[in-house]
Amino acid sequence: MRKEFYNTLRLVAWGRELKREHLLTLLQADDEEERDLFSLADSIRDRYVGDKVHLRGIIEFSNHCRQDCLYCGLRRGNTWLARYRLEPGEILAIARRAAGLGYGTLVLQSGEDNWYSTQTLAELVYRIKQELDVAITLSVGERERADYKLWREAGADRYLMKHETADPYLFTSLRPGTTLAGRVQGLRWLRELGYQVGSGNMVGLPGQTPETLVDDLLLLRELDVEMAGIGPFIPNGQTPLADAPGGTAALTLRVLAVARLVLPWAHLPATTALGSIDAEGRQKALNCGANVVMPNVTPARYRERYQIYPNKICLQEEPDHCRGCVEGWVQALGREVATGHGHSPKAPFRNPRLPEKAIPG
Ligand code: SF4
Repeated sequence: MRKEFYNTLRLVAWGRELKREHLLTLLQADDEEERDLFSLADSIRDRYVGDKVHLRGIIEFSNHCRQDCLYCGLRRGNTWLARYRLEPGEILAIARRAAGLGYGTLVLQSGEDNWYSTQTLAELVYRIKQELDVAITLSVGERERADYKLWREAGADRYLMKHETADPYLFTSLRPGTTLAGRVQGLRWLRELGYQVGSGNMVGLPGQTPETLVDDLLLLRELDVEMAGIGPFIPNGQTPLADAPGGTAALTLRVLAVARLVLPWAHLPATTALGSIDAEGRQKALNCGANVVMPNVTPARYRERYQIYPNKICLQEEPDHCRGCVEGWVQALGREVATGHGHSPKAPFRNPRLPEKAIPG
């Protein structure tokens, strides 16, 4: 038991801002310290974002991607993968079904697939927002500022774009042809445009150090994100990192708990990736700071082909089954599934107003 560790927890209790060395101390907790860290993260979660668990239904509408990220099964160099794209009408039909199941947020996610023009996605967002009472998160990768702007005007509420790693050299080595600076610029544009901004990072990437993870947390704080997805790196056999060791559930949970101390107001998901390497991973995450679960509402026939990493859970389940299953284990933890859109509790987003300008038809 280290004095510096408990002094750091005290700083959190006093509402002081944690510095780099404090975060490093927390990440290096021993088993006993970790229990206290998790307990504090859980109580901060309760105090700031409450007891309810928000469900976000993910629609994985295309597994095509122009990028070649070394860790990702969707990379363009993966010739083993059978590719698919859903037509806007099909995406709308899935959105209707998910809204009917009670999802208050839908996440439209794909690889970086320019087959969908800016206008096509804008019209899709607009139609969903006109017809269904849902918040929309877009997660379609890096695009131009004008694209983000049009989608926001069409009604998109949130944008999720993980920075993946805050080490600029590691970033470019893992995501050839792209830069951390470009990614962060995109996140800043999203902020300017009034999105609720989501980012996040992987834990256990080859070449990552505890200091890199501290940088990840500091970057998330600097960006003042409304959501942070923190999940383990899981090596995919169809990528150049097939033989790299993956991230552990233990370290991922620890980073998540520290993230709750650093980002008390943020929505933090219990990630599917964590649930894929530890059968109880999502439940453990909800007990150490997380307050969001993101069930897949993509029809089962497409799910197997959207494998950024292997052995993803819930590949065979249809959306209605997933919903009931998640609700069941959330309640078994003594928590309740939230209703409504689940916007960020931060002041500007509690009752968000969309820009006046509507998308042209
Ligand atoms: S991580 Fe994203 S951008 Fe990179 S290859 Fe995968 S889907 Fe494409």
